[in-house]
Amino acid sequence: MSRFNLAIVGGGLVGASLAMALQAGAKERGWKIVLIEQFAPGDTYQPSYDARSSALSFGARQIYERLGLWQAIARRAEPILQIQVSDRGRFGSARLSAMEEGVPALGYVVENAWLGQCLWQGLDKDVVSWRVPAEVKHMQALPDGYRLLLDDETELECDLAVLADGGRSSLREQLGIGVRQRPYNQSALIANITPSEAHCGQAFERFTDEGPMALLPLPENRCALVWTRKGSDTQRLLELDDRSFLNELQSVFGYRLGTLQQVGVRHVYPLNLIEAEEQVRSHLVVLGNAAHSLHPIAGQGFNLSLRDAHALAQTLLASDTLPGDLPTLQLYREQQRLDQQLTVGFSDQVTRLFGSNEPLIAAGRNIGLLGLDLLPPAKRWFARQAMGLGTRPNV
Ligand SMILES: Cc1cc2nc3c(=O)[nH]c(=O)nc-3n(C[C@H](O)[C@H](O)[C@H](O)COP(=O)(O)OP(=O)(O)OC[C@H]3O[C@@H](n4cnc5c(N)ncnc54)[C@H](O)[C@@H]3O)c2cc1C
Repeated sequence: MSRFNLAIVGGGLVGASLAMALQAGAKERGWKIVLIEQFAPGDTYQPSYDARSSALSFGARQIYERLGLWQAIARRAEPILQIQVSDRGRFGSARLSAMEEGVPALGYVVENAWLGQCLWQGLDKDVVSWRVPAEVKHMQALPDGYRLLLDDETELECDLAVLADGGRSSLREQLGIGVRQRPYNQSALIANITPSEAHCGQAFERFTDEGPMALLPLPENRCALVWTRKGSDTQRLLELDDRSFLNELQSVFGYRLGTLQQVGVRHVYPLNLIEAEEQVRSHLVVLGNAAHSLHPIAGQGFNLSLRDAHALAQTLLASDTLPGDLPTLQLYREQQRLDQQLTVGFSDQVTRLFGSNEPLIAAGRNIGLLGLDLLPPAKRWFARQAMGLGTRPNV
């Protein structure tokens, strides 16, 4: 039976980023890593109008720079030069700009397929082997690690198993790790949109009584829409023909980018805040969406998970022990606790504050947005959170 130092279950953006963050140090130490992923990642990237995307914070760029991957990612990353936060039907609005913050961009919007391909192509096959497509069906704790059973009936063992198998992790449940779950009673509708005017690197976060929306700049003057509404309403929006959908979106978003001319395929995601009750056990780490799934409106979920993955790699590589040693894993957990608490809290508060149409709360956020634009320290704080630099000034 094959034995590895690390087995990463799930080769999504988080699992693949962890493998990247580990591989150089793992090579020096002679560690062997295996990445197990259910779906074969494409090895040729096909540009698609409908590609799903993520907003990467400036902090995420700095991590990928350290891993030597940023140059490749940047070839198809659209810089966010300005973020405009506004509240429909009220005066308050705030503008955050890269120039004022003294950074080249507040963040970058990257298609997930492109980022995934850059990650997989950056893996060093001498250190990271992969089983793809392969599904881990069962995990058994051993005194010195874990035994994993794959869907082709093969087994492998490892010193440390990392669960990066997404928010609906069935393995987390199988291992008896509970979750704290708070439904938002909302769904996110996502689609790509083309406006008549150039977006010029502007991102828009707009809060309405029915729920928040974000429009993020993409290459080829497309914009990535994330529109949060009640579940029944997103279903209705999903079923509208393209013209009626664009008309409704236009009436909510306004004419900041001229007329909205094209919409691609629409997808709907139900939204919950999910947090695993345990993130580390002896020989086990829960990472990425399996550890915490956030509301997407603040664009923080993947950015936080990338910081976790980077911190986990650094902690494992700085330790004298083999991966899996509980005190080392607890050290990682303690190091990330504050960042996780603040980021989960920030996303949750923004969602609740701006998702409410209670008059008092709405008036309060109006004042808040006005204040944000007028008060440089508050604005700077918000910008740092949005850039993913909030709790880690050096990253
Ligand atoms: C609408 C929307 C918009 C978002 N926008 C942003 C944004 O702008 N910025 C941001 O930071 N975050 C954003 N997020 C959050 C971000 O998408 C997630 O945080 C991120 O995708 C989580 O990645 P992951 O690798 O943990 O999980 P996943 O992407 O779910 O990957 C899990 C992987 O594990 C594999 N897998 C599952 N089970 C097994 C198994 N048993 N064996 C083998 N493989 C398995 C799956 O095939 C999958 O590839 C958004 C989320 C949503 C829903």
